[in-house]
Amino acid sequence: MISDDLAAEASSLDARDALRGFRDRFVGADSPLVYFDGNSLGRPPLATLARLEDFVRDEWGGRLIRGWDESWMGLPFAIGDEIGRVAIGAAPGQTTIGDSTTVLLYKLVRAAFDAQCAADPARVEIVVDRDNFPTDRYIVDGIAAERGGRVRWIEVDRTAGVDADGLRAAVGPETAVVLLSQVAYRSGHLADAEALTTIARDAGALTVWDLCHSAGSVPVRADEWGFDLAVGCTYKYLNGGPGSPAFAYVAERHQDSLAQPIQGWMGTADVFAMGPGYRPADGMRRFLSGTPPVLGMLAMQDTLEMIGEAGIDAIRDKSIALTEFAVRVSDSILAPLGVTLASPRDPSQRGGHVTLAHPAMREVTARLWSQDVIPDYRDPGGLRIGLAPLSTSFTETLTGLDAVAAALRAIAA
Ligand SMILES: *Cc1c(COP(=O)(O)O)cnc(C)c1O
Repeated sequence: MISDDLAAEASSLDARDALRGFRDRFVGADSPLVYFDGNSLGRPPLATLARLEDFVRDEWGGRLIRGWDESWMGLPFAIGDEIGRVAIGAAPGQTTIGDSTTVLLYKLVRAAFDAQCAADPARVEIVVDRDNFPTDRYIVDGIAAERGGRVRWIEVDRTAGVDADGLRAAVGPETAVVLLSQVAYRSGHLADAEALTTIARDAGALTVWDLCHSAGSVPVRADEWGFDLAVGCTYKYLNGGPGSPAFAYVAERHQDSLAQPIQGWMGTADVFAMGPGYRPADGMRRFLSGTPPVLGMLAMQDTLEMIGEAGIDAIRDKSIALTEFAVRVSDSILAPLGVTLASPRDPSQRGGHVTLAHPAMREVTARLWSQDVIPDYRDPGGLRIGLAPLSTSFTETLTGLDAVAAALRAIAA
């Protein structure tokens, strides 16, 4: 049973929530289902229903192939600029939508590695942490094998993430590239991206930031913090829908000196010249390879509008309030059942989700999914509670955590 105090606190937080109106703008938010996975696949905005239908009927159906000339060719750059403006602090001309996160990471890490090695053949190491997302670790491993480089692993605590001392100890005259996640997918640890970028730069390295769990949830100031390169997901906090294409950021100063490895016609200076050889375009176009996935870029535009309206700083304030509330509720009703917090306690070091650990969490997750309470599970024993600031309410958070307590009690009985 939820205590009256916690229930009253949840309603009062909802009543005072400056962003509460946004929740009504998502499909399904009026149902009793509890959604704790907006950090993995965000809910669809209601506006997206009409946007998709209009697109199919009027643009695809009405304009047909003329649509490419009229607007679709420019869409990756127009939406990229909007992501830059509302979510990642990038001036126009540095962000584009492309392939999956995995493929964009490959393209940018390899481009950066090759440029670094060419300038200084001693720079053959790619630095990555042992607890980074699997795709990030696999990409780096593959590039090192393919290019005759080496991976330098940073060991990290699974309930935290990479800090300044850890990075300082790993970089040096042999470092080519550093690949880090700003928000750790497992613990939710929020790295000090500005400080870490500076440490890598002082060692002569280029940094590629993975912003998958950051974009739309924590402020990023790519230009101000001196980022070199970044990649991020659009189907998480940007609600782009299953498999929506990722974005890439390349600081203007690097664009014309980087050569990405998947040389396709869409990345050339004059796409329809169809010339005999590949000549990369100036600017961000050179980071494209093939035909842009236009259908996949539709939904995210509705969330980008909402982020622009709400402001990323207000979104971060609500995100902190949500995770603080989740931690308080967990301390109060889950800790007595043996649950521990596998995320940083200090909100300034935590992104938009919290991970709660208990050996029974895999079973808890299966039970909860069948009851329309949807967190996700990450080994070892971690229940991830993703709290999407635009679509999650405090009452929803409390209802879901109470269901976790009930599931744990049922399993123990
Ligand atoms: C979600 C996520 C990815 C996903 O990559 P895809 O190519 O979209 O499957 C990569 N890195 C991190 C850190 C993620 O959280």
